[in-house]
Amino acid sequence: MTKRCAALHCAEPVAGYSTLCESHKRTLRRHGHALQKGITVQELKPFQDRIAARRAKNPANATWELLRGRWEALTAHAKASLDAYAKGSPAISYDRQTAEQLGTLRSTVSVDVVIDTTLAMFLMWEQSSHRFMWDKAFNFQLARRVRGLAEANSSSHYSATEGRWHSLKPLDISHNAI
Ligand SMILES: [Zn+2]
Repeated sequence: MTKRCAALHCAEPVAGYSTLCESHKRTLRRHGHALQKGITVQELKPFQDRIAARRAKNPANATWELLRGRWEALTAHAKASLDAYAKGSPAISYDRQTAEQLGTLRSTVSVDVVIDTTLAMFLMWEQSSHRFMWDKAFNFQLARRVRGLAEANSSSHYSATEGRWHSLKPLDISHNAI
């Protein structure tokens, strides 16, 4: 007898040796939980507005500089890793992908936008905790929304040799490394 998917209210047959069906298996891989729905830009907007208002009200607060320093340190570490890989150091593929994405974020998105988006996600987690199935699913959504900032700024690139624009294919986040 074919086993049924373990996700709530799902009657689909399981995929291979998984306890989940094909669709829920995919959602687990993309979102960190079989029943987690992606946090949209529109959903996050009210929380971003509140963070922006807080920043406007307290621009001299030491927290902003502290967070900028953290982002500098994180992206500098990513750059050092990429430099080492370029010189032949061994690399785990998801570590290298994470470093590349951090590098893209650093070069295309303002540090304050990264900070405000991250803080907005934490605010949403605190105030709409029902939208996150568990901690790991929150980490996935946080990574997806921050990564999305770079995609919004560089969703395509121009190939001089081919003379046309290409869409950049977003990397799959299977590791909540950010
Ligand atoms: Zn299912």
